[in-house]
Amino acid sequence: MMTTRGAHGLTRRDALGRLTLGFGAASILNLDAVAQRRNGNTTGRRRPVQTVTGGIDPARLGFTLSHEHICAASAGLWQAWPELFGGRAAFIRTAVDQLRQAKDEGVDTIIDVTTVDLGRDIRLLGEVARKSGMQIIAATGHWLDPSRSMTARTVEELAEFFVREIERGIEGTDIRAGIIKVATGGTIDPFAEKALRAAARASKATGVPITTHAPGADRAGDTQAAIFESEGLAPATVCIGHTDNSPADYQAGLVTRGYYLGMDQLPRGGPAPPGTPLQAPNALTWEQRYAQIKTLVDAGFAPRLMLGNDHSIAMSLQPTAADRLRLAQNPDGVLFVSRKALPALRKAGVSEEAIRTMTVEAPRRFFEG
Ligand SMILES: [Zn+2]
Repeated sequence: MMTTRGAHGLTRRDALGRLTLGFGAASILNLDAVAQRRNGNTTGRRRPVQTVTGGIDPARLGFTLSHEHICAASAGLWQAWPELFGGRAAFIRTAVDQLRQAKDEGVDTIIDVTTVDLGRDIRLLGEVARKSGMQIIAATGHWLDPSRSMTARTVEELAEFFVREIERGIEGTDIRAGIIKVATGGTIDPFAEKALRAAARASKATGVPITTHAPGADRAGDTQAAIFESEGLAPATVCIGHTDNSPADYQAGLVTRGYYLGMDQLPRGGPAPPGTPLQAPNALTWEQRYAQIKTLVDAGFAPRLMLGNDHSIAMSLQPTAADRLRLAQNPDGVLFVSRKALPALRKAGVSEEAIRTMTVEAPRRFFEG
């Protein structure tokens, strides 16, 4: 039964037990054995992917956006100050409207990479998914805003927390995480390194893949990859994110080694007035990003590319007035990929088959493991 044993063959008790016992040399070997059994897929069964409304066959993911946020905030803000978002009920209506529209225009699944320190509210995600009909995959893991309590955690404790959210549920619900998100700046600080190692161990114990926030201009994905590989993690388990704003040789290096690339901040290549939040001054243009995608597709890497907007329907990480500039820069919101990027890629000569590979087949294979 899927409630107690995943297709990867590791029971919840096994996973938690291994983590509680810690990660001595012997238990690392055990986790490797678990991962090998899973990758060997001796049963022939597909591992279900967890959405906030339940586990589904990866074949049902359909058109998938690889990196989005219903709401990006800080831990506890929804509970303490919902008025900042216009009130919970009003925000839910807005999010449901936008996701219904996205569904109408062909988006089947959104990977919401909002972690606990980004103000994730799993009940809110659940309600938005149920009311909109959008399939939403929720994330465990950690972003760039560790509290003192999180900074104090050991690698083993962080891994235990991630596995708890994957195997048991999030925030006291039975909604389970379907992906592990981790983040670093251009250089990797001590907390980020712990989070990366914990993500690798949780992924090996559960079979759930990892997606990262990696500033591409700083080639952060290379350093992340080195840490994952020192933990014995297979590159095909990881999507290095924000790779659409990065040098071509960096993209080629990672994808050649077997990593998925998240071309997932595509709206941010457009013109924006100075002071627009999240818009890097030297960001690659839309045209440059599409040309890089075309080059990678022509080189045969479409099966390793995933597309996304990194759009937040609401975001409280900057003053409210400045946030209006962010929304004005991308009026299509989560539909930028469908409405703007895909037509531009077609015009640049990317085939319909390659587009389907990047938006449907690559996410499916990423979750199948
Ligand atoms: Zn993001």
